[in-house]
Amino acid sequence: MIVLVINCGSSSLKYQVYDMSTETALADGLADRVGINNGTQAILKHRPVGKPAFEVEEPMADHTAAVKHVFAALTDPEHGVLKSLSDIAAVGHRVLHGGAKFSASVLVDDDVIQAIKECIVLGPLHNPGNLQGIQACAKALPGVPQVAVFDTAFHQTMPQHAFLYGVPWEYYVEHNIRRYGFHGTSHRYVTLKATQWLRDVKGIPVEDQRVVTCHLGNGASMAAVKAGKCIDTSMGLTPQEGLLMGTRAGDMDPAIVGIIMQMKGYDPQRIDTLLNKESGLLGLTGVSSDMRDVKAAALADPPNSRAVAALEVFCYRIVKYFGAYAAALGGLDAIVFTAGIGENEPMVRERTTGKLGFLGIGVDPAKNAKVDKSQDVIDISAEGTTVSTVIIPTNEELMIARDTAEIVAEKSV
Ligand code: ADP
Repeated sequence: MIVLVINCGSSSLKYQVYDMSTETALADGLADRVGINNGTQAILKHRPVGKPAFEVEEPMADHTAAVKHVFAALTDPEHGVLKSLSDIAAVGHRVLHGGAKFSASVLVDDDVIQAIKECIVLGPLHNPGNLQGIQACAKALPGVPQVAVFDTAFHQTMPQHAFLYGVPWEYYVEHNIRRYGFHGTSHRYVTLKATQWLRDVKGIPVEDQRVVTCHLGNGASMAAVKAGKCIDTSMGLTPQEGLLMGTRAGDMDPAIVGIIMQMKGYDPQRIDTLLNKESGLLGLTGVSSDMRDVKAAALADPPNSRAVAALEVFCYRIVKYFGAYAAALGGLDAIVFTAGIGENEPMVRERTTGKLGFLGIGVDPAKNAKVDKSQDVIDISAEGTTVSTVIIPTNEELMIARDTAEIVAEKSV
């Protein structure tokens, strides 16, 4: 079964094609600057496996236009990986916000589209683009089943005491103001791997497992997972809560919002941009949102003091959540690092675990420095520690493709 995975941002469209008989990726790519200046600066980068990559610079006024170019690339005689579009058996879409309506992936129908629309108020930056992607594919591939995979779904098992904010009850009941959590597809993917590994290698039954998963990319979040189910996570109603991120502030006193708005005369949109796009590593350092640049600036001679401070804040927040989640879980069996920083940055893993010996956590300096990427689950724990520290490379696209193939197979039984 050939499954196309689509991840539509507000001005981008990422895609990946899988042959699910072997779970191998055939191609991936990115259409960027879609709809910006009427799409006149749009560019499609297509990377077929085993063939040379190529780029198309054509106007893409909206996601429907971008999808057309993606399909042309996929079936191109020279660079394509499909004989025809009819090879595509199903399309899986990443959807940011499913509110409290979706605790698992679903086959898209009119009711699902309506529910995604209703969640636009909770995910105004992403859900409209996600919907456009679904609608563009429905138009281009009539009759081909489409599946929505929600970033929020994995966290729907959070108990009420973890998801309620301390605002008046009616805001929760009438306006759905509560914590939802994000990066759920990634947390679920690494949880599945960690769960199997803890059972098979460490002999811990799934029902007893206590795991903290750390998705540390440009966006960053942590989840407390008990018996394979999420019981808490660091992001909230929106992806702005929790850890310090590339450009997001994360946890802060909510009164700051009103104070800055008054001080600077900002409207809600401007303050949202400040806290979402101009804060975090970028805002603190003034150098970059990218951890590689921040680290280079912090380690330069002389060191950039703002970069040093930003790194300390970034790591300290993670340490605090480890403590919080160890308490929430009643102890720990494993911590999992994943995503760009989690998988690739030994210094962050070292600094976030270095002082947690009292919890039974510790990494082996040699294993941490030179990660053996041939494994699915890379154990970097120090000798004698009681909590396993592992790196598990995430694969959200594969998770979406698996959900899509499974749901479509169930439907056709
Ligand atoms: P997203 O998917 O959220 O855009 P990623 O998971 O790709 O983000 O993570 C991006 C972050 O990972 C950036 O801060 C980047 O610096 C960091 N990163 C990626 N590769 C490396 C690497 N080899 N070493 C250190 N940091 C890395």
